[in-house]
Amino acid sequence: MKPSQSDCIILGGGAAGLAACAALSRAGLHITVVEKLDRVGKKIMAAGNGRCNLSNADMNPACYGKAATFVSRVFEATPPDEVNAFFASLGLMTAQEEGRIYPRTMMASSVLDVLRRPCEQDNVHLMTGCEAVSLAPSRRGGWSVQLSTGEGLFAPTVLCALGGSAAPHLGTDGAGTRLLGMLGHSITPLYPALVQLKCNHCALRSLKGVRVPARLTLEIDGASAAQETGELLFADYGVSGVCVFQLSRYAAKAIDEKRRVRLLIHLLPEIPDVSAWLDARIAAMQESDALSLMTGVFPRLLTQAILKQAGCSPESIAMRMNRAARLALAEAISAFPLDVTGTQGFKNAQVTAGGVSLDEVDPQTMASKRFSGLYLAGELLDADGPCGGYNLHFAFASGLTAAKAILTR
Ligand SMILES: Cc1cc2nc3c(=O)[nH]c(=O)nc-3n(C[C@H](O)[C@H](O)[C@H](O)COP(=O)(O)OP(=O)(O)OC[C@H]3O[C@@H](n4cnc5c(N)ncnc54)[C@H](O)[C@@H]3O)c2cc1C
Repeated sequence: MKPSQSDCIILGGGAAGLAACAALSRAGLHITVVEKLDRVGKKIMAAGNGRCNLSNADMNPACYGKAATFVSRVFEATPPDEVNAFFASLGLMTAQEEGRIYPRTMMASSVLDVLRRPCEQDNVHLMTGCEAVSLAPSRRGGWSVQLSTGEGLFAPTVLCALGGSAAPHLGTDGAGTRLLGMLGHSITPLYPALVQLKCNHCALRSLKGVRVPARLTLEIDGASAAQETGELLFADYGVSGVCVFQLSRYAAKAIDEKRRVRLLIHLLPEIPDVSAWLDARIAAMQESDALSLMTGVFPRLLTQAILKQAGCSPESIAMRMNRAARLALAEAISAFPLDVTGTQGFKNAQVTAGGVSLDEVDPQTMASKRFSGLYLAGELLDADGPCGGYNLHFAFASGLTAAKAILTR
């Protein structure tokens, strides 16, 4: 098929673009897919540490925060069960781990392989290694796309599925929001999300590599903004781990707005009353020094950091600790403070928060409200979800919604 015969040009051969292409190709439309990288679906291959957590058993739109209303309307148009049925119809068998949906093979390549098959038919022209550099409504109706090769494409409809700004090594450097911004769509501020946080604390260098179960409270301007529990990993720059990723969605924006952002880390989340626990432990280990008092509870490097934070000498004898010292120690254990200074940036982020304003897109069709024949899907929109399959699911659901609308045009 020649690109000039396309019914639709899909910009971006990622999750949203491939899902839409598969649906349109099966319906017999002529499609051209423009993908900048030498292969489609590279981010799908990297997703979920190569296992691709493609969805979640609990697709609650509320997980998408301020985009919840928009997402719930997308899910009305293409319910989560329909996305699952779509993958089943492609032949994908899935398995669940704590609600997270993966391919049964636990290999991301299975997801990409089943998506790619309908995209490799005669009615699809896959242009890999091709960058879209401009997009404009054509005078004769329809859309013109200019490629970096100098070539021009034309079709009655365009689906823009160019992704966000996160993980530029996987092809996404913000081109989608740039192209749509130039066209006249409003773009909300962009922040890295699902990313490690940079923190300021003298203990971090020595804690590098320490992993502990913890409950994290994100404090913005002194008020608790969000809480997450999970495995915390200390690094020389700050902290990482799924619980940190989840909180980063709120932290990046607040830091950009020059607000004071702190993490208060509860290092013994399974103990409801740390003061009472400490009193009992001191009573049982009266002759111990403070360092031994914590031995068997925390890794030694973390114990040292906790004692320093509490202003407590490692040699001080447990039973001689006065009330103030005990309270300081309990606080260092249950609310170890880290000032958050930034994120590890788009280079390390899994997702982009912010994007094309949702006010300008119809969630029932993914059509632009500003330009006829233009559809938008996936991460380039101002909708991001937490870890757990929510971002891929939104990409697939919005891509399939756009495909249905393009078919009924
Ligand atoms: C390391 C990593 C792991 C992740 N793991 C998970 C997970 O397990 N579960 C989950 O739900 N989400 C995960 N995500 C997030 C998820 O992968 C994305 O939200 C999702 O892929 C977005 O889909 P999309 O189609 O909008 O964009 P993408 O999948 O990013 O696709 C966009 C495509 O457009 C192409 N492109 C960009 N600019 C141009 C241009 N100018 N011309 C032509 N082509 C262009 C890109 O090369 C890319 O292939 C992960 C992300 C990363 C980085």
